[in-house]
Amino acid sequence: MKCKICFHESNFIFAATILKKYNIKYYFCDNCGFLQTEEPYWLDEAYSEPISISDTGYLQRNLYLSQKMTILLSIFFNKEASFLDYGGGYGVFVRLMRDIGFDFYWYDKYATNIFARGFEYKDDMEIEAITSFETFEHFVNPLDEIKSMIRISKNIIFTTELLPYPIPKPQEWWYYGLNHGQHISFYSKRTLQYIAKKFNLNYYGMGSLHLLTNKNIPKVMFSILKLDKFGFHKLLQIGLKSKTLDDNTKLVGGDSERNIY
Ligand SMILES: [Zn+2]
Repeated sequence: MKCKICFHESNFIFAATILKKYNIKYYFCDNCGFLQTEEPYWLDEAYSEPISISDTGYLQRNLYLSQKMTILLSIFFNKEASFLDYGGGYGVFVRLMRDIGFDFYWYDKYATNIFARGFEYKDDMEIEAITSFETFEHFVNPLDEIKSMIRISKNIIFTTELLPYPIPKPQEWWYYGLNHGQHISFYSKRTLQYIAKKFNLNYYGMGSLHLLTNKNIPKVMFSILKLDKFGFHKLLQIGLKSKTLDDNTKLVGGDSERNIY
């Protein structure tokens, strides 16, 4: 099977059972360090619910990410500009970021927007940076998705767990997601560096948080992201105006409803 990232030959490394019934093959590319499943035929079943029922960390993660992103976007980007959450799921993150004061929009091919209705991304919007959380491991065609993102903005902030080395066996790594069958693409650090180079961007990584950008950012600057532990995001929030009330006024078309708090 050809590697979906660099098109070199990808080698079979193991098989595993997903969704408790399909025995599927995994292929690893020595050239770029990308691990992919065989062509996924089980996704309709895997996505009968787009947000997996076992994802109990969904809200915690959104809260945590909203704090980290408040710091990252305020320090490295134009915080007054517009942002896009690509693969925004139910819209929780977009709503949280708008509540903080960022002009965030939602896009998702598969999920239904519940919390950020009225703030769907439109083609002509100018976007400063894209966020995309826990999406890359779901991509059937990662390069096509990354190309679509780059057409929108050359700053892409995303999360995905890096493939450890040596490559864990199926039962040794929770991130294979064998229960839900939605994870089909796994990236090594080497893979993300390869992608950055291919698109002429810089790659920066901090654990499971990654940044592809045309900016040059001194690596040491990223330590600033750890300051959320000390409430740094709250300090930065003072310089932003929450859109909770304004959005409500806009959505009801006139007087705001006073019971939103
Ligand atoms: Zn490859």
